[in-house]
Amino acid sequence: MEIIGIDLGTTFSCVGIFKNNRVEIIANSQGNRTTPSCVAFTEEGRLIGEAAINQASGNPENTVSISKRYIGRRMNKSELKDKSVFHPCNLVLKGDKPFFKIICKGEKKLYSPEQISSMILVNLKKSAEDYLGKKVKNAIITVPAYFNDSQRQATKDAGEIAGLNVVRLLNEPTSAAVAYGLLNSDVDNETVLVYDFGGGTFDVTILRISNKQFTVLATGGDTKLGGEDIDTNLVRHLVEFIKNKHGVDVSINSKSMKKLRIECEKAKRMLSFSLSTTIEIPSILNGIDLKYPINVPKFVDINIEIFESTIDKIKDILECSKMKPEDINRVVLVGGSTRIPYVQKIVSEYFGDKELEKTINPDEAVALGAAIKANSISETPDNNIILYDVVPLSIGVRVKGDIISVMINRNTRIPFKATKMYTTESDNQTEVTVDVYEGVRKDIKNNHLLGKFELCNIEKAPANIPKIEITFEVDIEGILKVTATDISSGNKNFLVCNNDMNRLTNEEITSMIKEGKEFEEEEMISAKKELAREMLEIYIYKIKRKIIKDSKNVDVDLDKLKELKNITNEAIFWIENSDSLTKEDYDLKRNELIKECKFLEK
Ligand code: AMP
Repeated sequence: MEIIGIDLGTTFSCVGIFKNNRVEIIANSQGNRTTPSCVAFTEEGRLIGEAAINQASGNPENTVSISKRYIGRRMNKSELKDKSVFHPCNLVLKGDKPFFKIICKGEKKLYSPEQISSMILVNLKKSAEDYLGKKVKNAIITVPAYFNDSQRQATKDAGEIAGLNVVRLLNEPTSAAVAYGLLNSDVDNETVLVYDFGGGTFDVTILRISNKQFTVLATGGDTKLGGEDIDTNLVRHLVEFIKNKHGVDVSINSKSMKKLRIECEKAKRMLSFSLSTTIEIPSILNGIDLKYPINVPKFVDINIEIFESTIDKIKDILECSKMKPEDINRVVLVGGSTRIPYVQKIVSEYFGDKELEKTINPDEAVALGAAIKANSISETPDNNIILYDVVPLSIGVRVKGDIISVMINRNTRIPFKATKMYTTESDNQTEVTVDVYEGVRKDIKNNHLLGKFELCNIEKAPANIPKIEITFEVDIEGILKVTATDISSGNKNFLVCNNDMNRLTNEEITSMIKEGKEFEEEEMISAKKELAREMLEIYIYKIKRKIIKDSKNVDVDLDKLKELKNITNEAIFWIENSDSLTKEDYDLKRNELIKECKFLEK
């Protein structure tokens, strides 16, 4: 059973496989080791990865680049409005679930974040299949450690829609630590802090590594903090600048906003290597040419809150695990945003000017670890690493006074099972609602509702007499199952969190799988067509070169050569000016040419 390891990132994704006793990161069809997590829809169909990014500024409304930010989330209208301004693709709500509204081949469609993520997964799966020369079915997919239950479930759904059997979800920082720990054999009996600052999420995790055993001690982070937010801050800053200087609000134009975002991201990367750069966009809107010099101090000033909040998260997790900065033996940097020198500076300073571990490629570390873990659970493992992870947030039920009664504390090692007895509040009460929350606050309104369910047919009895047993079970992937049982009647009900609230139904998943297959078939037809066109063109240009060469021979039939020259020119014109040509049309044309040019081959 071959299992691939996938880092499904917010901005970039990466796929790896453990082969011949080492991990291989698999390059995509463009030869790149990471693929932009971007999907675009055009008149012709669907584009994924580089092809989608390359056309983004001309087609912003139909280009979706950060589906992971929305996967498994519920949103309200004001949150949605705020996000839409800075991300020009159209987000809409169906109930409280966000969807991307796009136009594909002239048809309006709504795609869920799971569906968009599934398209990226299909692309990564295909790269792996091309590389291995066989079908791939099984995958480990990584998720931010701070992803909640519904975000995890939704990621599994995305895998299923992509035709993958998701054998395991793995936390990103744990995965990176596995890669770091295995590739640096001197790391043993050490406490390692993984600072994972990527495109869309920030995770900080403390692990103990000893003898190939990776035990997560604590984890913290923010699923809405990453390089994307740095870009958004720069975009916001420039929108204000243009407004003040030219009196024009570019935020109303999605093409201008997409261009601005692309240039701001480029400038951000540039400022990791040089002290200053200039953001230039000719004719951004109404003939205004944007030229904005920016240096590192200004960049840091614009983003200082983001940078400092990552340090606050480190403080919080150290406090929570009763540790001091000096207890950390190594600090490992993971995620593209850790290339920012200021980030490295403040992290190093916080740990007493500690040298940071940068030996592992921050873009590939997570996929490397996932591939290593995939191998360790395969039928023929080359390594046998052991992982112990934790729940990122406390989980419990709502009780009287709208407070949370914690069943499992934050940072408890998983898998874990906890059982507590509850009772009724009024006489002859036959039903209770079990509201399941996660968070770190006492008050339920400051926590996140994971799901709710009813336990009915409780045997009638005075208040406080019935015994209702509630069991919380978190599996190895961090997915929670809650069961409630009325002890006297034996009646039971359970909830696999968010099954009934935010998750896709089985029918929805089946119809999405079908739609995905249709896209794949279309793409296969299109790829075959492109190949046929390429082969025809290669043949035409080969003949043209031969005609030029042969025209210098004295014994050649010049009229025949002239005739052939016209035929090849006509064929080029035919390729460039015909609509809706098929693979068969190209093949037919090539066969015709081969027949007519046969005498030249001699
Ligand atoms: P990841 O999720 O780890 O792939 O990280 C992607 C994020 O890293 C994106 O927001 C990128 O813009 C950012 N990034 C990549 N390279 C750099 C760099 N040299 N300087 C600053 N940010 C970068």
